[in-house]
Amino acid sequence: MSEVEVVEEVLPLKQSGDVVANGNGYRGGNNGVIGVSHDENLRNDVYTAAAYGDLEKLQRLVEYEGCSLAETDGLGYYALQWAALNNRTAAAQYIIEHGGDVHATDHNGQTALHWSAVRGAIQVAELLLQEDAAVDAADINGYQIAHVAAQYGQTAFLYHVVSKWNADPDVPDNDGRSPLHWAAYKGFADCIRLLLFLDAHRGRQDKEGCTPLHWAAIRSNLEACTVLVQAGKKEDLMVTDNGGLTPEQLASDKNHREVAIFLGNARRLFKKGCDGNNNFGQLSKLRLSPVLWCSSLLLMVTYIQSVLMAPYLPRLTAGFGLLAWSGVFLASAGLVLFYRCSRKDPGYIRMNVHDLQNMKDDEPLLKIERNNPALLAGNWSQLCVTCKIVRPLRAKHCSTCNRCVDQFDHHCPWVSNCIGKKNKWDFFLFLVLEVSAMLITGGVTITRILTDPMAPSSFLQWMNHAGIHHISAISFLIVDFLLFFGVATLTAVQASQGCRWSIQKPI
Ligand SMILES: [Zn+2]
Ligand SMILES: [Zn+2]
Repeated sequence: MSEVEVVEEVLPLKQSGDVVANGNGYRGGNNGVIGVSHDENLRNDVYTAAAYGDLEKLQRLVEYEGCSLAETDGLGYYALQWAALNNRTAAAQYIIEHGGDVHATDHNGQTALHWSAVRGAIQVAELLLQEDAAVDAADINGYQIAHVAAQYGQTAFLYHVVSKWNADPDVPDNDGRSPLHWAAYKGFADCIRLLLFLDAHRGRQDKEGCTPLHWAAIRSNLEACTVLVQAGKKEDLMVTDNGGLTPEQLASDKNHREVAIFLGNARRLFKKGCDGNNNFGQLSKLRLSPVLWCSSLLLMVTYIQSVLMAPYLPRLTAGFGLLAWSGVFLASAGLVLFYRCSRKDPGYIRMNVHDLQNMKDDEPLLKIERNNPALLAGNWSQLCVTCKIVRPLRAKHCSTCNRCVDQFDHHCPWVSNCIGKKNKWDFFLFLVLEVSAMLITGGVTITRILTDPMAPSSFLQWMNHAGIHHISAISFLIVDFLLFFGVATLTAVQASQGCRWSIQKPI
């Protein structure tokens, strides 16, 4: 694969005395060097002036020396292209006003707009498009600006031209490769996120039968593979190219161990998920809340029967009785909160997927908010490629619920729900209530057993007596004790995260 070939870099202006040295170099090194070599003075032509945005010189050359802006330099490139490549908006404006043509193409079929995409020169691109440059201009390889932007990882540029000028983010080039192929090949993960968010076709096969995932695997771009697999389905991993190879096989053929292992694991995980076998991925999908509910109720009944109303124990005094029953009250209140927590929306963020179908062809990208501050700031990781939304800073995608959850904490299989913005305080309070209830009921149980008036004084006999008369109270105590440590740990973790929540630190 070879990307669009334009100038790779124009060295920054080198001031030496009052002389500006020119260092324009061509990409790939096979195209020679424009202008003069490093030790000579700046060349006196409109192309160099355009590349450096030297408006004064440009005006002098055009207005006094009669240089043309509609002709190419020795290598076949236009002054407007040089200005576009280097984001020289004023120079580009001047060139357009004095005979430069926004539609002009060089011998590669590239326009100034193509060149503006190389380094993501948004201002110049904006000017060119306002001057009626064709947003869908394709060069001899079939590359449009979206391809060029993807080849050079210019995500912000891509976002701008797609959202404002409706550039096609999923158009294939002459080899059938879309911008997503290029971003995967080059390993630009943010660009991949944006393209997937824009509904680029993950499974598109180029003339060699390769999908973007094939190219990411061939080039050993692990992060690109990760983003593509996370957004994808099992079938993406099984697609074979014209040689009959899947991305995983290609990666291992090329000795990209890390990528091959990752893709292999992903394939096994997908497979197990489909078969419904018990594995780690399935564990989090279990809905354990009814189990927890019933066991808690059972514990409570045991406590009431074998501790509070035990036939062999004296009746409770009023004060002690109040304390003993408060344990039951706290546990019940906790269970109510637990129920709320498991039923409540944890803070799901509305998906944008359904809007997609209703969109009209002439407004393909109304769904991206053009001025979304997160995207303008370049926070591409806030794009959820599954939900097709720009999520808030502390939101995360829950793979179990397959939704984005605001202030996502974790997916709790016991609650059978995510813990997020809307139920985190219910969850925390539930934990606090249960811990208090366990402390009280545990304490009450120990006191009741130890103060049994019928208990014999010798230890062995006492053990025997307790084993006969207090067996269920002792069982309750053991379970209560074990649960206490589990829940207390959770509460401590949750409390430390409570601090995190309140200082609003992003996850
Ligand atoms: Zn999501
Ligand atoms: Zn979840």
